[in-house]
Amino acid sequence: MTGPAGGPPLLRMRLRVEHDIFVVRQRGREVAAAIGLEHQDQVRLATALSEVARELLRLCGGADVTFTAALQTQGPVSLRVDLAPVRPLPDGRYEPQSGAVARLVDMLSAVDRDGDTVVTMSRRVPANAQALTPERLAELRAELGRTAPGSALDELALQNQQLIAALDEVREQRDELAVLNEELQETNRGVMALYNQLSEELEETNRGVVALYAELDEKSAQLRTASESKSRFLANVSHELRAPVTAIIGLSRLLADSASDPLTAEQARQVGLIRDSATDLLALVNELLDLAKAESGRLEPNWVEVDLRAVFGQLRGTLRALTTKPGVELVVEEPPPPATVRSDEVLLAQVLRNLLHNGLKFTERGEVRMRAELRDGRWWLSVSDTGVGVPPELRERIFEEFYQVPGSTRVGGTGLGLPYARRVVHLLGGTLELASEPGRGSTFTVTLPAGGA
Ligand code: ADP
Repeated sequence: MTGPAGGPPLLRMRLRVEHDIFVVRQRGREVAAAIGLEHQDQVRLATALSEVARELLRLCGGADVTFTAALQTQGPVSLRVDLAPVRPLPDGRYEPQSGAVARLVDMLSAVDRDGDTVVTMSRRVPANAQALTPERLAELRAELGRTAPGSALDELALQNQQLIAALDEVREQRDELAVLNEELQETNRGVMALYNQLSEELEETNRGVVALYAELDEKSAQLRTASESKSRFLANVSHELRAPVTAIIGLSRLLADSASDPLTAEQARQVGLIRDSATDLLALVNELLDLAKAESGRLEPNWVEVDLRAVFGQLRGTLRALTTKPGVELVVEEPPPPATVRSDEVLLAQVLRNLLHNGLKFTERGEVRMRAELRDGRWWLSVSDTGVGVPPELRERIFEEFYQVPGSTRVGGTGLGLPYARRVVHLLGGTLELASEPGRGSTFTVTLPAGGA
């Protein structure tokens, strides 16, 4: 929006003949320069002016051209050029032939001024231009009045120069664009290389992982085969050993029999030794056979409703006979009702007997106690003793085959009882754990789901 004009017009001139177009253009540029428009804007305004002038000359035989410094209500001053046609415009309207002309200036339109249609255009003066005081405007007016317009040829030469400058600028921009394009391509190539490298590395890693998995599979297959071979070997060997060992026991019993030829005391002692050793050997062979069976999966539990009171009662009876140490008491508590669990009676009794046997073996004073508790749908069957206990770091090792706590071997045994017991309990759907305090005792606990596995 234009506010009050900054005093009288800076310059007035007439556009009547072809030659005047050059003069309007030239003067337009001069006024634009004088008021502080930048070089590019001077050329733009001058070009727009000469285009409009050419059209008005053709449409209505010319115009009166007025240059005014218009003061904006806000912001910078702008240069306004009014072209008042000498004859009314056809239809009273004006539309520049090319839309590009309107883009050369900030505003270009036909307005009604005192009943006549006037074509007006304006271009803003940059804020950093010299301050346009009324004195400065008066000075400009005087200067412009003094200078005479040059010839059409001068204007043409100048226009040429401006064209060359514009072309140079375009070329420069094109070069810059080419450089930018080149850089972009370079970056693209870099990104592609990085991407390729990354996907190669990923592929490589994948291949490694696949190979690792294949190796793992192979190793576990080998392990499975080895474990199966071991079980088969143990089963075969122990089975083969059972017959001769049983024979040795039988023969030594026969030798010591009172019905046989009498032996010397020394011979009788030696035959006794042979029989004891053979009995130990038979126990080992039997345990090995049990373990091999459990490992190979050939042990099939016979699932029945087991009466815990009966099992506990039977164990109480058979193990009392083993309680030969005067300072050790065997206590088998009565299981609380309903004292039944779905399990295999023989296997369960074997496990509990084993634990009680161990308790009695490794306890010198105090008691070995077995009790049952039903909690959260599971039976907790525990065998606790007040014996030597097991050091914390060996609590899992004693469940390994043949492992015996150093120093405990003098009481005999094979180191196969606990691994077998744990395997059987797993087969029955339960767990076997140990809690122990060295020097104070141990508690082995079997948990079983009350309803079976
Ligand atoms: P074995 O009793 O025939 O040696 P086990 O597998 O039953 O074999 O036990 C392994 C080892 O665990 C025993 O040699 C002993 O060192 C330790 N152990 C087992 N039960 C107890 C216990 N109640 N108190 C202390 N140590 C025990």
